[in-house]
Formats: sequence, structure tokens, C-alpha cells
Amino acid sequence: MKRLIIFLSTLLLLLFITSCQNHLAVFDPLHTSEAIPSDTPDGTSPQVVSPSSVPTHTPGPDSTQAPVLTATPTPAPTPIPTPTPVPVVPPVPSTESPDTPVTLPAISQDDALSIIPIEYQILKLFKSDKAIRYIGYKEQNPDFDYEKVFLYVNMGLDLPFYTNINTIKETNRIDVLVNKYNKLPDDFTPQLEQLPASICSPGMGNQYLRKEAKEAFEKMHYDAKKLGLNITAYGTYRSIALQHSIWAGKVNSGRTIADVDRLNSRGGHSEHHTGLAVDVIKNNSTVEKSDEFKWYKENAHLYGFIIRYPKGKEKITGYSYEPWHLRYLGVDIATEIYNSGLTFEEYYALMIVD
Ligand SMILES: [Zn+2]
Repeated sequence: MKRLIIFLSTLLLLLFITSCQNHLAVFDPLHTSEAIPSDTPDGTSPQVVSPSSVPTHTPGPDSTQAPVLTATPTPAPTPIPTPTPVPVVPPVPSTESPDTPVTLPAISQDDALSIIPIEYQILKLFKSDKAIRYIGYKEQNPDFDYEKVFLYVNMGLDLPFYTNINTIKETNRIDVLVNKYNKLPDDFTPQLEQLPASICSPGMGNQYLRKEAKEAFEKMHYDAKKLGLNITAYGTYRSIALQHSIWAGKVNSGRTIADVDRLNSRGGHSEHHTGLAVDVIKNNSTVEKSDEFKWYKENAHLYGFIIRYPKGKEKITGYSYEPWHLRYLGVDIATEIYNSGLTFEEYYALMIVD
């Protein structure tokens, strides 16, 4: 009899446990009995979480619905970071200009044409619609011959920086001129390729250039490497929005616009938007003392790069000397600029623009 009671008690206990297990499975809120997805939206290892520990900052509209376990993988994030918007500083003419801004002489177009010797009016650089500006600039710079006057006025140097701004139309040309008078459209984005991390400066994040510039930079990097030199990419493509935020942030911090303009482009006016410019090694003056600089100063053109903002040319380029900033233009143009000693602004006005 005692053995029968023990047997019946054990049987009842087993029936009770089985019943509880079935009951729990029906109400399993996290589907812990099912297979866990192998990927999660942020690429981390999947975890079993309780509803109270579901992160509320998970991206996407379903962030409150246990995304770690139920969401399908999302596409890889856009590689180019976009900055957070900053307060917009309204565009204003720079207080710094290449020379004292020229006051236009109070003369007619016919008077201006009668002053400019006829033998100069047949030069390709001569543009009759700029005749009055030529006269004004010549009066201010009597030592300049007419060729130089035509060239500099055609480049816009008789006007303050950030005035008379041209919006660039042929944005994808390798020889595109971007400066304080020539701006890329706000919606411009080039086709970019990522540089291998091994040829980039450590800690500066992913770097992107246009295909042509990337291939040329890689070739230059590896050729220099054979000589024991390490020419790395420190800064490459920047979006127009990011450039604007950098510039506006510096102005909003209390520096004068002239001071900021000397080193920082305004949004749309930076060569870094083109995907054709690369700051190498580190963007400060120590670069000039490096063996790498001594080498690329004499060899970068063989790979299609120029030192874009040379020493002593600040009034033409609008920027302080930047030994670290290289611009890709292709071997032919870069070699002509290297051999001539011209800035790209001068070369462009002489050789490229109509
Ligand atoms: Zn730069």
C-alpha cells in the first residue's frame, strides 16, 4: 500500500511538471525556444535580452520592439559621414582681399578701350567687357604690364574674395578650379573610392578620393615607400555641409572672418569637395621639415599632383602656404605647373578657361 501511494504521488508530480512546461512555452515572450537571427542591425553578436533591457537608442522606427531579436539586418551605413547642422552664418564678402579693392574709374567703356593700347587688345587674355576694370586695376598697380593686369582681373583679383562668385557647371572635370571666386553647387557630390587604411594617417578615419586621384596617390605612396618615406593621406574628401560647419564653427567661436578665411574655405569653395585634394601626413608646418616633403615637392607632379597653395602666392590663391595640401590635376597639367612656377589660378586663366 505504501509503495502504491509513492508511485501515485510520483506520477502526479510528473504530470504537473509537464503541464507547467507546455504552459510556459505558449507564453514565451522572447521566443527563446526558437532560432536566434545570426545578424543584428549594428553587426554585433545577437543576445537574448529582457524587454526592460532593450536599448532605446537603437536606430530605426521599430526600436522599442526588441530589435536585437526580431529585426532583419539593415544595409551598411553610408560610408561618408554627414555632419550635424550648425547655425548658418550668412555669406558675407571677405574683409581680406588680394589688394585694396579697386575703385572703378568713372569712365565709359569707350574711354577705357581708347586708353588700352590696341596691340594689347588683340591678346587672347583681353576681354572687352572688363575694360573699365582693367583701367582701374592698372591705375592701382602702375608697375604691372597690361598682360599681367588682364590676367589678374580675369582671375577676379581686383575684387574682394567671395564676391562676384561663379557657380561651377562642369563639376566633374579633373581640371576644375574651385576657389574663393568659384563655388561648387550645394548638391554636388563626386564619385568616390575608399583608400586602403594602410596608406592613411592613423586615427583620421576613412579616407575617400576620386578614382583617378586615389590610384595616383597609391602609386606615389608605394614608390616613396621604396625610398623609406611614408606619405599618408591625412585628409581627403569633405562634404560641402561639413566644410560649412567647420567654417561657421570657427566664426561662431569668436574669430574674425578674415582670420578664419585665411585657413578655412567656406562651404562649396574647398578643393576637398572635389575628391581630388589630399592633405598628406599632417596638416601643419612640421610637414615642411620632413624628408617626405623634400621628396614630393620635387616629384609629386610625376604622379599628377601639385602643391596647391605655394609659399609667397597667398594673394593669388587666397590661402596661407600649405605644404601639406596636394591637388590632383593629372600628370600633364601638374608637370606644366611645376615647370612654370605658376599657381593653378594663373595656369587656369592662361591655359584652360576660354
Ligand atoms: Zn587641404
